[in-house]
Amino acid sequence: MPPKKKSATKGKGKKYVFFFGKGKSEGKASMKPLLGGKGANLAEMASIGLPVPPGFTLTTEACADYYKLGKKALFSKIEKEVADHLARLEAMTGKTFGKGPNPLLVSVRSGAAVSMPGMMDTVLNLGLNEETVAALIKLTGDERFAMDSYRRFIQMFGNVVMGLDHHDFEHELDAVKKAKKAKNDTDLTAKDLKEVIKRYKAVVKKATGKNFPENPMDQLWAGIDAVFGSWNNPRAIKYCQINDIRGLMGTAVNVQTMVFGNSGENSATGVAFTRDPSTGENKYFYGEFLVNAQGEDVVAGIRTPQQITIAGSREWAKSQGIDEKTRKEQFPSLQEVMPKCFKTLDNIRLKLEKHYRDMQDLEFTIEDGELFMLQTRNGKRTAPAAVKIAIDLAKEGLITEKEAVMRVEPSSLDQLLHPVFVQASEDKAKKIAVGLPASPGAATGQVVFNAEDAEEWAGKGKAVILCRVETSPEDIGGMHVAKGILTARGGMTSHAAVVARGMGTCCVAGCGDVNIDYKTKKFTCKGVTVKEGDWISLNGSTGAVYTGKIDSVEPALTGPFGKIMKLADKYRKLGVRTNADTPHDAEVAVRFGAEGIGLCRTEHMFFEGERIVSFRRLILVAETVKSLKDANSVSTLDELEKVCAEDKKALAAIAQYRQALKELLPVQRKDFTGIFKALAGRPCTVRLLDPPLHEFLPHDDAGQKEMAQQMGVSPKDIKNLVEGLHEFNPMLGHRGCRLGITYPEVTEMQARAICEAAVAVKGSKPEIMVPLVGNVKELALQKQIILDVIEDVKKKKKVKRLNVLIGTMIEIPRAAVTADEIAEEAEFFSFGTNDLTQMGCGFSRDDAGKFLGEYVNAGIYEYDPFQVLDQTGVGELVKIACRKGRKTRKNIKLGICGEHGGEPKSVEFCHNVGLNYVSCSPYRVPIARLAAAQAVLRKKMG
Ligand code: ADP
Ligand code: MG
Ligand code: MG
Repeated sequence: MPPKKKSATKGKGKKYVFFFGKGKSEGKASMKPLLGGKGANLAEMASIGLPVPPGFTLTTEACADYYKLGKKALFSKIEKEVADHLARLEAMTGKTFGKGPNPLLVSVRSGAAVSMPGMMDTVLNLGLNEETVAALIKLTGDERFAMDSYRRFIQMFGNVVMGLDHHDFEHELDAVKKAKKAKNDTDLTAKDLKEVIKRYKAVVKKATGKNFPENPMDQLWAGIDAVFGSWNNPRAIKYCQINDIRGLMGTAVNVQTMVFGNSGENSATGVAFTRDPSTGENKYFYGEFLVNAQGEDVVAGIRTPQQITIAGSREWAKSQGIDEKTRKEQFPSLQEVMPKCFKTLDNIRLKLEKHYRDMQDLEFTIEDGELFMLQTRNGKRTAPAAVKIAIDLAKEGLITEKEAVMRVEPSSLDQLLHPVFVQASEDKAKKIAVGLPASPGAATGQVVFNAEDAEEWAGKGKAVILCRVETSPEDIGGMHVAKGILTARGGMTSHAAVVARGMGTCCVAGCGDVNIDYKTKKFTCKGVTVKEGDWISLNGSTGAVYTGKIDSVEPALTGPFGKIMKLADKYRKLGVRTNADTPHDAEVAVRFGAEGIGLCRTEHMFFEGERIVSFRRLILVAETVKSLKDANSVSTLDELEKVCAEDKKALAAIAQYRQALKELLPVQRKDFTGIFKALAGRPCTVRLLDPPLHEFLPHDDAGQKEMAQQMGVSPKDIKNLVEGLHEFNPMLGHRGCRLGITYPEVTEMQARAICEAAVAVKGSKPEIMVPLVGNVKELALQKQIILDVIEDVKKKKKVKRLNVLIGTMIEIPRAAVTADEIAEEAEFFSFGTNDLTQMGCGFSRDDAGKFLGEYVNAGIYEYDPFQVLDQTGVGELVKIACRKGRKTRKNIKLGICGEHGGEPKSVEFCHNVGLNYVSCSPYRVPIARLAAAQAVLRKKMG
């Protein structure tokens, strides 16, 4: 929230503009919501004495009012403030805006509170026109530089502010370059650039019918207008959606004195990270720069950028197969070409890390041997880097252990758990190229050449690798769904690299050997042709590109990852269990730190292999047996056998029913034995059979015929059976404990399998969970069956103690609101928040996909309630159930086993309502552990 300074809102109204520069900043780093990240940090850097070109920031509030009051009203409100600040800037710099002899040129830069790289547009060299460009030539004696700045300005202004296609400009530039046989932009002379400018102006005239604006004040206001206007552009909106950025006021506008990295061989521009953003390593100062270049040149992949340090430069050369001599001649490091500036920059790096206590992402420019800082922010990093940096900073004493825990985004841990290539499989694969290892990981997929295709193919469930010459913000959607990204151009700080790292997507960038032809949807690489749809593999940690598929494996869970998990465990209060149905899943989850199973589904124990035949035999006669029981008013099979002693058909049905249960018992016992062993003494909540019976029957003719044969009945009988079990609303139908009520023998068999397995595996801690209870009487009936089994097993196995907890899922709203009654019987509750959401919100899980997206877009629900727990509604049901449950049974054990158990926001909610544990899929266990720790720390911090 913006600091509520009285002076800023009192009297004449809001303060919309804040000055920064030469130790006299009005803003500071903590004012990000109001000044945007860029503006706040420029102010902060200037305050601590770093060389920041002075300027001023128009607040995000101004942006909000731009949309609220309209452009005209806002501009007339801030006109004077802007003019005053411009005058102050002129006074400080000794330059004049729009006039010689020393014209003030500025950049107009966007910057929201949260950094959104490449999402908003920036205009450089604003204030140039025929008059000021002449003054600039006179002042610097460098016509080429002045012309280069002017043509850049027209291009950026034309594109960003006037909305012209930047290809139209590129086209003209390329034409002049071709005519002059110039390889790089830097090869163009002042005269060539004049020609470019002439053509650029013609482009503008042709497209708009108007001349390029000469008046600098008009240029400035149009620039401000464009930045505020860009807040609503589709790229920015999409970026916010993908990154779940909400509630920002808008973007700020920074108007800053220009410094020129394009003023000759003694000038440069670059970007740097205080630590390696890919790995988190702190081996050397990590970054790239270009001599005689401006602004985005480094990231745009126009020329091959050079490295900051000698060490970094050598490593880079090695990865590119460039020998030391060539490196020194063509790609020397900043440390070598401008040692003094390097030293200053290196000191600033250390100072900034200490000051911000985090890894920084820096932008700098060197003008005639003088270094200027243009931006700093907490650098984006891969998940492995985030973990390593947090642990290292804590070790270095820059941050506390608790802060280290807070520094890692729980959901990003997902990336650390992703597979890496099997070495042997990778060794065998055909390597066709090596690019830059821009974002780690391993990806195998089918090649597509544009973002739309990527989205379409991925939508059909295909794994795709997006191949582009270079990416731009328009490609975000496709990049998001791709397994991997390959670009032919661009460095480690190119758009593709930065965005991929942020997404945790594997990326190989700047792979110069790859020649992409968008038209034919092919790329060639050293004689190999790869077509759309072909399989390739990328190693984002080495930059290697392979044809074909490569096997991958799970990553190691030690090192910094192990350390951050240990810290998380130190602080969290919430237990973390897993949802696992097999010994293998249980083992994986235990490796990830699961403290038990919170949900062991048993449906597969009726399905796999031969079991389904047994179970179908049971289903075939279940209804008959049930009707016989009712007709004869008996409740057990033994009693039924007695009263039906003369009825051969009835006896056959009963025998078939019994036989099926007899077959299922030992196989299920074996399943539980395996799981209990894998858990080695950790608790296991087993859910009794939950899905409706028709899910176990074949619905197609062929399947029904096969079943008929197996069962020795006619296909018609099976068809009738299936039709008889058909339900209009199966999710609200005959399922869960309702099956156990109708067919108590199934509950009994399952309870027996669990209890016998528990006896067989010493130290097991089984918990039997009755699903879909809405009324305490349902639970009481099922519980009695289980209690009888426990006694029976104890007697038969001759064991004195057999501790089995009996509890229920809370997944029906009625259960939640009658939890005090249910707790009379239940020793634990486990919130089944998938069904509780379905029934609590009245959204069918199977049908809501059609409209939920729309609901979220319209802001009716903030998030998809099946992904992020709806705390206001469904959460309230959870709270009621907790309160009422505890009232009856003080120490009732409470947990959650829905999908929400591994979603950080929902985990925090679970901590705050005082649940004992969350349970989630194995791969989410580390996420839940970290989220649980953060919930504790966040609450403490208030
Ligand atoms: P983004 O948010 O996309 O990084 P920036 O506003 O940071 O956009 O600007 C784009 C580029 O222009 C950066 O490389 C930055 O360093 C450069 N730049 C911005 N303002 C100036 C300035 N006043 N002088 C020189 N270079 C500038
Ligand atoms: Mg920037
Ligand atoms: Mg359920």
